[in-house]
Amino acid sequence: MYTSLKYIKGVGPKKELLLKNELKITNIEKLLNYYPYKYIDRTTFQSIKEAKQSEKIVQCKGYITQIRSEGSGTKERLTAYFTDGDSFIDLTFFTGAKYLKKSLKIKEPYILFGKTKKFGSSMSIVHPELTLQKDQSTLGSLYPQYHTTEKMKKEGMTSKSLAQIITNALILIQKDDVENLPEWILKYRDLATKKDSLIGIHTPKNYDELNRAIYRIKFEELFMNQLKVIYLKIEREQKYKGNVFTTVGDKFNYFYQYNIPFELTGAQKRVIREIRNNMKTGTQMNRLIQGDVGSGKTMVAFMSALIAIDNQFQACIMAPTEILASQHLESILEMNQGLNLNVKLLTGSTKVAERRQIHQELEDGTLDLLIGTHALIEDKVKFQKLGLVIIDEQHRFGVAQRAKLWNKGVVPPHILVMTATPIPRTLAMTLYGDLDVSVIDELPPGRKPIITKHYFDSKREKINEFIQNELNKNRQVYYVFPLIEESEKLDFKNLEKGYEQVAEDFPDYSISVVHGKLKSQEKEAEMIRFKNHETSIMVATTVIEVGVNVPNASIMIIESAERFGLSQLHQLRGRVGRGADQAYCLLITGDKISKVSKARMQTMVDHSDGFKISEVDLELRGPGDIEGIQQSGDIQGLNLSDLSKDSNILTDVRNIIFKIAEKDPKLTNPANNKLLKMLINTNISLFNWSDIS
Ligand code: ADP
Ligand code: MG
Repeated sequence: MYTSLKYIKGVGPKKELLLKNELKITNIEKLLNYYPYKYIDRTTFQSIKEAKQSEKIVQCKGYITQIRSEGSGTKERLTAYFTDGDSFIDLTFFTGAKYLKKSLKIKEPYILFGKTKKFGSSMSIVHPELTLQKDQSTLGSLYPQYHTTEKMKKEGMTSKSLAQIITNALILIQKDDVENLPEWILKYRDLATKKDSLIGIHTPKNYDELNRAIYRIKFEELFMNQLKVIYLKIEREQKYKGNVFTTVGDKFNYFYQYNIPFELTGAQKRVIREIRNNMKTGTQMNRLIQGDVGSGKTMVAFMSALIAIDNQFQACIMAPTEILASQHLESILEMNQGLNLNVKLLTGSTKVAERRQIHQELEDGTLDLLIGTHALIEDKVKFQKLGLVIIDEQHRFGVAQRAKLWNKGVVPPHILVMTATPIPRTLAMTLYGDLDVSVIDELPPGRKPIITKHYFDSKREKINEFIQNELNKNRQVYYVFPLIEESEKLDFKNLEKGYEQVAEDFPDYSISVVHGKLKSQEKEAEMIRFKNHETSIMVATTVIEVGVNVPNASIMIIESAERFGLSQLHQLRGRVGRGADQAYCLLITGDKISKVSKARMQTMVDHSDGFKISEVDLELRGPGDIEGIQQSGDIQGLNLSDLSKDSNILTDVRNIIFKIAEKDPKLTNPANNKLLKMLINTNISLFNWSDIS
């Protein structure tokens, strides 16, 4: 399977290079993993009489009785008379006459395939595909179609010739053992063998065979993906012991009894319990908390920190921006009344003297809870006994940064990652399958749902009237624009032009402007001005997407909303609805938008649940496009599998692997040898895989 392409019949150095350069196909395995994007159904045949009834794609059996030529040289054109013994149809060729005259065979059984076209009163097919019936068997009856590039086409490598090469490759591997799943799994789920699935996907004889092949390949992809993910988790749990937080102590209980400003939601209670159970087991916690904007993650973070502190450990909370870190500090100081924890803030702008003090208190253990930005992970920052790290708005932090935190204690601290970007369950399992996931799927009671409306640009007057009305009530408004500069000829509103328009439309109100090109201090200063209601309107790009809390801002206007991803729109919408007033989100789009864009706007209007929205997003866009995924690294090895549709296979696969992990955790059973081999090929090193085998 890993052998070179040049062993395949019909592949010389030129084609080998072309495949490598154009499709990154460098060996037979990769070639066979290049699947068709669609199939043309050639399982059925029409009579020529039927074929001539209307213009359509047809397939007929028959033979050529005669070939006629008109014109000469490059202008020569051929007409072949084709019959099934009952009726006749003309086949017309405007090019290639010289070659065709030599290669077309009279009276030999052919399969004719092409589109019928009416010329005057007669029906004919221009440039049909003709395959000798005796050659047909190797190609199968559902014809595969492969994507090819311009360059490939130019050099004569079409979908059809690629199909031929792949067919030849399949013949070449006929005798090889290519199976990579254990025999017992194939039996257990009645899966096609690897070889049959490759034959079935490239040269299916019928839909049954094709579907069986597709199922097996998806199963294998998801199985390999999850085997890695789950064993990675097992590896980590074995390798790293975690601090054991045995008690729920005084601070936690005091807070819960006297200080807590509201009743926790059921989801908050459940998630806190999950975290507590996780931290008392002796394995290191790596947990992802997903909770929609406003679901109350800060409270969960704080109460988890209390558990760490009650067990004589220190904790820290890391936020992506200074303003968010300050916001956390503010709400945590409020909750800290009567608890008297030593809580401090460390950011890029912390003064040297203060910084020195913080370093001191961290090292002598008197600082209980440190809140801050990236500044927390600098090497200078040393904790005496760091027990828990909480990372807020995870997608701003890279994996490498997370890993750095592990070195901040002899035993790595428990890690809690909190994200407001909900990802569908299936995606979470493949992307974060090595983390445990808790979901806060409930909002605090009494929230008024945000009213979302979609307006076309042409309704500008009505929109402005509405905004004026809200401004009159002393509310504040966000205006979000997609681009900072006019990008080429795109007719999207840009921020500067947008700002001018807003200033003209609402001359009586002061306006803040925030965009990605400002220095972070300028940005924060402007946000604070808005937060303090020194300005009434905030014109911004998506930099305001994450976290800032301005309860009096109740209107979110998103311009050129069709330019944004659904999760992004949802995230932006989450900036409003934080106060007592009814909040609104207006999505403004061009008058002429695509069907998909319309569907996306409607999704926002209809749904307020971030998980629901992310599922629609996955369906409409596919996982590669979903925000945050690119940064998180690709989902490896998923080629045919569709995470929005194959969740049943994914769940099945996970259950099987969990059972294997339980019964044969080190994969020493010979029946699982193929799985062991597979893991050896990855970098999972826990059990010193290669020693065992
Ligand atoms: P997010 O999950 O977006 O970080 P926050 O933690 O900022 O949400 O919480 C949003 C708001 O809801 C805060 O003002 C917080 O005090 C409030 N809140 C959190 N939990 C509850 C609850 N159980 N009941 C009422 N209000 C709550
Ligand atoms: Mg938050």
